[in-house]
Amino acid sequence: MGRLAFVPQLLALILVLQALPSHSLPKGSAKELCNESKCKPPACRCSGTDIPGNLAAKDVPQMVLLTFDDAITRLLYNTYYKNILFNRTNPNNCNISTTFFTTHEYNDYGATNWLYQQGHEIALHSITHQPGTDYWKDASVDTLTKEFIGQREILKQFALIPEKDMKGMRTPFLQMAGDNTYQMITENNLEWDCSWPTSQFSDPPMWPYTLDYTSQQDCPIPPCPVSKFPGKWVVPMVDWSNDDGIPCSMVDTCPMIDDPVELFAFIKQNFHRHYDSNRAPFPFFIHAAWFAALPMRFDVYVQFLDYLESLPDVYIVSVSQMLEWVKNPTELSKLKDLWKCWSIPETNCARPRNCELIRQDNGETRYMTSCTTCPQVYPWLGNPSGTSS
Ligand SMILES: [Zn+2]
Repeated sequence: MGRLAFVPQLLALILVLQALPSHSLPKGSAKELCNESKCKPPACRCSGTDIPGNLAAKDVPQMVLLTFDDAITRLLYNTYYKNILFNRTNPNNCNISTTFFTTHEYNDYGATNWLYQQGHEIALHSITHQPGTDYWKDASVDTLTKEFIGQREILKQFALIPEKDMKGMRTPFLQMAGDNTYQMITENNLEWDCSWPTSQFSDPPMWPYTLDYTSQQDCPIPPCPVSKFPGKWVVPMVDWSNDDGIPCSMVDTCPMIDDPVELFAFIKQNFHRHYDSNRAPFPFFIHAAWFAALPMRFDVYVQFLDYLESLPDVYIVSVSQMLEWVKNPTELSKLKDLWKCWSIPETNCARPRNCELIRQDNGETRYMTSCTTCPQVYPWLGNPSGTSS
């Protein structure tokens, strides 16, 4: 919840950084420009705005990415997530899927398991969500591993999420550590990151791509990766913008609109920039605090999901499902061969335990909900299983 306090600072930071010269072609990089005859899906894709598989836009499903950042609390689960996300289907009659970027503190691992059981994707957003961007900008591969892979361990152990299903991440404050971020992704078998905004490639919008070759993407929050990371995916955060051209990567940081009719029009206008052009995945990235700050936003969000449901070629999918499509570009008429409906897995967490634990670094008490036996101490950086020393 405290995350909201950083939104104005983040906006200010983004505006300042966007005024700087872009870093689209890094100096001193040994990489080659992407060659489309060598770089082909499923393993490789050049950065750019062309439609995968050279399909016509009318044959491409408009994929919509709904994501939610930070801790999944029981309150957010009961108030918002289960009400908007369950019992809603795509045109193939499978349930929709969304992506949660989870942080550890105050996260409810029972509710996390229930979202996973319903087919939503659980991704990584660090253990500590340490305030201040310098920590993230200067982070070593070791620190990043402790933060993100530590969170993967915690989710595996206490929310019973299979490790193979946690494939991606978003870094706090969208502050990457350049090559170190993708080095950590590579060393730990993650597949993708979704932290890198683009304002230059929003009209037409950029499609996801791999880091086999030099990226053309602008770098609004440096440092961005410059080395080669074959087969690792960038899911660009394509900026939204308003009539004055003010960009925003997280919808929480867009200029405030307090009239529901205007807000709906603003959302729709940004959606149509994707839907009416190259159909690159449409991002709708928020923190649930966005709903809490102004309750009408929740109604407008539901109204927008209803609007999407009325369109026969729009699919609300997780980031990983979207990448499956990009790796195997499939016409609308053949989608049933690509996306199968989710079947509820065996792992269940019907009665999560409430654990009262001590956070070792500051002695404070934390309450943690777990699908399995309570740990001895509060899991934290360097000790994700929470064993007492
Ligand atoms: Zn966050």
